[in-house]
Amino acid sequence: MEKIKKITLSEDEIPRHWYNIVADMVNKPLPPLHPGTLEPIGPEALAPLFPMELIKQEVTQEKFIEIPEEVREVYKIWRPTPMFRAYNLEKALDTPAKIYYKYEGVSPAGSHKPNTAVPQAYYNMKEGIKKISTETGAGQWGSALSFACQFFGIECEVFMVKVSYEGKPYRKIMMNTWGATVHASPSNLTNAGRQILAQDPNSPGSLGIAISEAVEVAAMNEDTKYALGSVLNHVLMHQTIIGEESRIQMEKAGDYPDIIIAPFGGGSNFAGITFPFLRDKLEGTRNVRAIAVEPTSCPKLTRGQFRYDFGDTIGMTPLIPMYTLGHNFVPSPIHAGGLRYHGAGAIVSQLLNDKIIEATAINQIECFKAGVLFARTEGIIPAPEANHAIAEVIRQANICKEEGSSKTILFNLCGHGNFDMGSYEQFFAGKLVDFEVTAQQIEASLAELNTPTIG
Ligand SMILES: *Cc1c(COP(=O)(O)O)cnc(C)c1O
Repeated sequence: MEKIKKITLSEDEIPRHWYNIVADMVNKPLPPLHPGTLEPIGPEALAPLFPMELIKQEVTQEKFIEIPEEVREVYKIWRPTPMFRAYNLEKALDTPAKIYYKYEGVSPAGSHKPNTAVPQAYYNMKEGIKKISTETGAGQWGSALSFACQFFGIECEVFMVKVSYEGKPYRKIMMNTWGATVHASPSNLTNAGRQILAQDPNSPGSLGIAISEAVEVAAMNEDTKYALGSVLNHVLMHQTIIGEESRIQMEKAGDYPDIIIAPFGGGSNFAGITFPFLRDKLEGTRNVRAIAVEPTSCPKLTRGQFRYDFGDTIGMTPLIPMYTLGHNFVPSPIHAGGLRYHGAGAIVSQLLNDKIIEATAINQIECFKAGVLFARTEGIIPAPEANHAIAEVIRQANICKEEGSSKTILFNLCGHGNFDMGSYEQFFAGKLVDFEVTAQQIEASLAELNTPTIG
């Protein structure tokens, strides 16, 4: 029989619903708290930052949410995305495991991020918003939102973490091409930025700092809202389109994953590919292992604490129940910029606490080795974030080899690395170093928190 390499779907197979895993969770995620009163916050507290429809989606218990027709129309530019069987990688690893990957790098912005950027821009437009402010780490989210805002006539202002702004000038130009304004963060345009610069004029920035700046701009301006590219419940839900498509593709391949692997920043691409399969696990019909992979330099899932913490650095957001390293934690400047975030979303944190999902941390040199092997076998050059998933896939494939078991592994190739040549250049020059966070660093960062603990 002829081998099928690429499992494709037709346009009318683009899912019509997102999946809300909260509906199936036995232990629901804990509510966000007001940082002053420590009471659960109501929708009105989020109203200055987000349009009402997204706030509703943030708290809904409904199992499936319909994808608006206008959003599906924009999705058609790159969706459905292909799934591939990694025959060449399997052969190179000499593993009995079957390896599949879902490729989200075919979006115009080059990652999974437009899956949520498009509906977020759409709901803002529906509620008459003129401008969206946001932050971006590696530049992926800023690009995705810039791209999405175009379709709905919304202005986009992006605060880009300085280390990326300087290291990835073409990401900035990409955002400019889609009409967005981009600032290096910390900037002197906001109180939050000025405060950080006063402490450290050479601050490389962090996602947390950039979030503070973008939130401040939205809070100060009536016609401006804020958008987040990860962490929040509605963001994770929009990403489930990845897993919903993957379910159909796996079925077409006549297979079902034993293990699903995805890199982990705030949890959105991980949630996107795993939640629709975890539905079967929560309903008790199938068992699947879902493994989140984080960098050793920012190990909130494997070494952080499950407690309430701020989503940003300054402490402007509600308190979120999360696995966190502390909102003041500034991770080393590794090349997977999208994974340098101090906390994890409330849903994924609860699932990890309940042992429904697993997590592991891998050093960046092992990740880049894995990414280069992938590029040389499967052809696509992965984003440094995606290399984390590939490194874990290789570990699991090697375990299969030792055990002589033929597991089915699915992973999320959440973006391409075509704008990340600088990091590959450093890897080839032997200049990448592995960062191990010490226990003292983590303890010191957590000791600064005076937010409520859990359990
Ligand atoms: C943003 C990003 C990530 C990390 O964010 P998640 O919300 O955890 O998915 C990972 N990979 C790529 C390519 C990204 O752009």
